[in-house]
Amino acid sequence: MNCPTKRNEDAEILLDYCARKLAPLQTAEFEIHLKQCPDCSRLVEAQKEVLAALKAWTPGPVSADFDARLYARIAAEEAQAAPAWRLWLRRIFQPPVPYPLWKSAVPLIAACAVLAVALSVRMPDSVDHRLRADKVDIEQVEQTLEDFDILTPAVQAPAGSM
Ligand SMILES: [Zn+2]
Repeated sequence: MNCPTKRNEDAEILLDYCARKLAPLQTAEFEIHLKQCPDCSRLVEAQKEVLAALKAWTPGPVSADFDARLYARIAAEEAQAAPAWRLWLRRIFQPPVPYPLWKSAVPLIAACAVLAVALSVRMPDSVDHRLRADKVDIEQVEQTLEDFDILTPAVQAPAGSM
């Protein structure tokens, strides 16, 4: 017989022997091996000690008011959980940062608005040049102008609303 401690696949033999789950023939084979093998003897002794300790251990008695205390604790946990849940929701719908962030962004937004206005004022001139030079599609130019119209009020709105 191969020593069960030498191969992982055979390790179960050792545990099964200790748990008395091994078939009689295997048990006999293993006991012969056990007499010659100090490694297996040591492991079997250790395993027997663990099993004996588990058998000797008895859980302490459950106190009479265990159920009542358990349910009180669950109720307390749930009571605490509800406000946390609401806080979580509030955090999602009312982010705590925006106001200071907006405040510091106002000069930048104003600068963007000025730049956008300046660009849209100068735009017709440059469009004329491009029309003559490259024969750009009229629809494309209109699209560009519309894009500027869309961009301009969107940039100005937050600055005005503050
Ligand atoms: Zn062995």
